[in-house]
Amino acid sequence: MSISITAPINARHLSAASPKYRAFNLRNFRKIPQIERLSASDAFAVEVVGNVLPFRANNYVIDELIDWDKAPDDPMFRLTFPQRNMLRPRHFDRIANLLLDDADQKMLQTAATEIRWQLNPHPAGQLDKNVPRLDGKRVQGIQHKYRETVLFFPSQGQTCHAFCSFCFRWPQFVGMEDIKFVAKEADALIRYLRQHPEVTDVLFTGGDPLVMTAKNLAAYIDPLLEANLPNLRTIRIGSKSLSYWPYRFLTDRDADDLLRLFERIVKSGLHLAIMAHFNHTAELKTAALEQAVRRIRNTGAVIRTQSPLLRHINDDANMWAEMWRKQVSLGMIPYYMFVVRDTGAQHYFGLPLVEAWHIFQQAYQQVSGICRTVRGPSMSASPGKVQVLGVPTVGQDRTIALRFLQARNPNWVQRPFFARYDAKAIWLDELRPAFGKSRFFYEERPVEFNRQSLQVTGGIDENLGYVIRT
Ligand SMILES: *Cc1c(COP(=O)(O)O)cnc(C)c1O
Ligand code: SF4
Repeated sequence: MSISITAPINARHLSAASPKYRAFNLRNFRKIPQIERLSASDAFAVEVVGNVLPFRANNYVIDELIDWDKAPDDPMFRLTFPQRNMLRPRHFDRIANLLLDDADQKMLQTAATEIRWQLNPHPAGQLDKNVPRLDGKRVQGIQHKYRETVLFFPSQGQTCHAFCSFCFRWPQFVGMEDIKFVAKEADALIRYLRQHPEVTDVLFTGGDPLVMTAKNLAAYIDPLLEANLPNLRTIRIGSKSLSYWPYRFLTDRDADDLLRLFERIVKSGLHLAIMAHFNHTAELKTAALEQAVRRIRNTGAVIRTQSPLLRHINDDANMWAEMWRKQVSLGMIPYYMFVVRDTGAQHYFGLPLVEAWHIFQQAYQQVSGICRTVRGPSMSASPGKVQVLGVPTVGQDRTIALRFLQARNPNWVQRPFFARYDAKAIWLDELRPAFGKSRFFYEERPVEFNRQSLQVTGGIDENLGYVIRT
């Protein structure tokens, strides 16, 4: 069966036909016409915070997603433009004073770097964790934490069409973390997959791999298809392009080539999942988005959606219910609701786990089973992805019930466990075990695991991956 994805786009259906991508950042944001609608102090705040946290917007986000009548309080504005409260007051004042004093770039840089170090950049140090070995050497650009799934970081895919102000990869975008840990070619990936028959999924990630040209992306993917690996079943591509630049699939010069690549993946018998990142209903409303979704789905790819729960952006159960319903009616499948990580402007975006669970529960109860493919709220913590299941009182004890959706040790998955109730905790490492225990089950010493006869097979490096120590 041949699918016609290359039918010409009817430009009249697009609210702005074939716009050319224009990026805005700290250097040129004052040229954005709408910026004049901000007060001088709000525009100055963008500049102050933008000196510390990454900032990139584009003409689609500015013209179609942000409601400038509501800026600076508009959620899409907050999502892409730096805001005063994203820095602690002392940090904000320090940069503001330097700018007001016309301090030179070097002093500004020094201050910005000092502040960044206080924003806990390490959770983003993910790039060096779970790095597997191939023939005794560390493999560039691959992360293998969960048995079935390998993450792949193609070198040209380490940026995005716009930056999210909450992004945990912010140190990479401000040049704090050098991203030499990226893959230049697909060869090592293929060799790795050959040696690891337990891997079924490869997840292309970044940044946003779809900022790459179709040609560059094909240079990674076509060899993977040609290798015809019996274990490989799914290729996933994590991307925010549907939200930040849907023209990637419509009118960009190589949009059709990209869709043809998707078609080749599907025709080869693999499942292709676009892991699309949406944070707000505003991102789901444009004509361009609707067309882009349709074109992607016509290739046979499936689109699954995910987002963190963010204060000031989407901390609203009704909006989540609406997002899931809208995604389903567009033909997408809700997948994850994440808890934001403890880094960068976490004090601005973060919510306590208990509050996150209440929002999830209130949203989930509103939608039909078709939308309930979503799982959350989920923390991507070092032992694995931990979902908050609820806040039951067990006997006399108030607790938080949790489970692993995904874990370093596959045998931890799907086993409910309990933490002491804590209304303020925002992350797993702040929780303590319930019922007077001193450790969570996954923190027990390996010897005790053996006694429980956990059976895990097919491991990678025991210090890095999912094999437990014996
Ligand atoms: C989320 C995640 C995956 C994918 O997990 P699935 O449960 O298969 O969606 C893989 N690797 C890492 C490091 C992750 O955080
Ligand atoms: S699109 Fe993803 S990687 Fe890019 S800035 Fe947003 S959250 Fe970060």
